[in-house]
Amino acid sequence: MTSGPARAGQRIIIAGAGVVGLATAWELIRRGHEVTVLEKEAGVAAHQTGNNSGVIHSGLYYTPGSMKARLAVAGAESMKRFAAEHGVAVHTTGKLVVATSEAQLGRLHELHRRGTLNGVPCRLVSPEEAREYEPHVSCVAALRVESTGIVDYKGVCAVLARMIGEAGGDIRFGTAVTGIRAEAAHTVVETDNGQWRGDGFVNCGGLHSDRIARLAGIRPGVRIIPFRGEYYELAPEQEHLVKGLIYPVPDPAFPFLGVHLTRMTGGGVHAGPNALFAFAREGYTWLTVNPRDVLDSATWPGLWKLGAKFWKVGISETARSLSRRRFLAGLRQLVPELPDESLVPTHAGVRAQAMHRDGTLVDDFLFERAPRQMHVLNAPSPAATAALEIGRIIADEALVTVR
Ligand SMILES: Cc1cc2nc3c(=O)[nH]c(=O)nc-3n(C[C@H](O)[C@H](O)[C@H](O)COP(=O)(O)OP(=O)(O)OC[C@H]3O[C@@H](n4cnc5c(N)ncnc54)[C@H](O)[C@@H]3O)c2cc1C
Repeated sequence: MTSGPARAGQRIIIAGAGVVGLATAWELIRRGHEVTVLEKEAGVAAHQTGNNSGVIHSGLYYTPGSMKARLAVAGAESMKRFAAEHGVAVHTTGKLVVATSEAQLGRLHELHRRGTLNGVPCRLVSPEEAREYEPHVSCVAALRVESTGIVDYKGVCAVLARMIGEAGGDIRFGTAVTGIRAEAAHTVVETDNGQWRGDGFVNCGGLHSDRIARLAGIRPGVRIIPFRGEYYELAPEQEHLVKGLIYPVPDPAFPFLGVHLTRMTGGGVHAGPNALFAFAREGYTWLTVNPRDVLDSATWPGLWKLGAKFWKVGISETARSLSRRRFLAGLRQLVPELPDESLVPTHAGVRAQAMHRDGTLVDDFLFERAPRQMHVLNAPSPAATAALEIGRIIADEALVTVR
């Protein structure tokens, strides 16, 4: 590697047509580079991006100074602007994080402190004021965040893919990366559908990103552990009980935000997601089991350490997954009026969460660089919110590796 400005007209190959891969591709094209995106599925946003909550996060939750905090705050703005400019459904709804017991007040105040440090417009409100935003909510106090929004991420990906194609970029669907070889001046990417040679390679493979890194000879110190999140929809007669977004106070020991109620851009209200260990990286139901994926998780020492620490949470999440009544009971802490027949099962998503060997979950976004390569090894929530900003950072870094 040598230093100096990147030359224009580099050929960069990207694995993955989720929102991170597409945002990166678009950013590279805008800077005058040639891009090929290789995607194993038949279309864009087939995994995490197309099965998420559709929320534009404000940046409230994240450690001040972290990439997540900085890129979520900036990304919320750029994502809203991008969607509005390109006719993708987007609304700035605001949200309420509600403390349902006195015991949660300390954590609610800590969220307020973090949000303020991160520059997020948020303020503590009384139960009466909370009910002005959400008339059916029950709480002892709440945090009102103005900048949270909702967007159609599949729509964002469709627009990015169209713009990439119109600008001369190449997106190859049905093309799985199976090997990566470094040559003196190139990176050669093998697929089940031919071979590509580029000046650089970017791995945006989401649930498979650690494996793709291993194909390139990298030994990442983390492994992707898949966590399924199941959703229900509120029955149409109950939708009026939720105006915008209602979230619980999250458990800081756990990286997920807790089951929440979210109004969607296409209409309707989603409830979820829970967080369950998945028996396949693309395991959208309990019945989907992939022996290789199970082995990969089970042979990672960290999983057992995490399991020993969080077995009670695991049992309670499993019980909630198997019993609609329990799922509803959790939601009723937020909105007590939800009646018995409120929930209709809908899709699930699987989160790609990187884990260290010692069982700690990687908190921030994580990138690994190699000559002529850049690997995105942890891009969980709020990476969809932050995708356009992540794309800029990856483009900077990817181009540094090909100087
Ligand atoms: C249940 C759930 C709820 C979430 N809610 C939110 C939210 O509300 N707001 C938010 O900001 N974030 C949310 N997230 C996180 C967000 O969806 C992800 O951070 C983001 O979508 C990651 O995008 P990605 O492009 O990295 O991954 P993905 O969207 O998973 O894309 C990776 C792509 O790589 C492809 N691929 C993998 N291996 C190969 C290979 N060998 N060859 C070729 N292609 C390959 C896959 O097919 C896939 O299309 C949520 C995630 C989940 C799962």
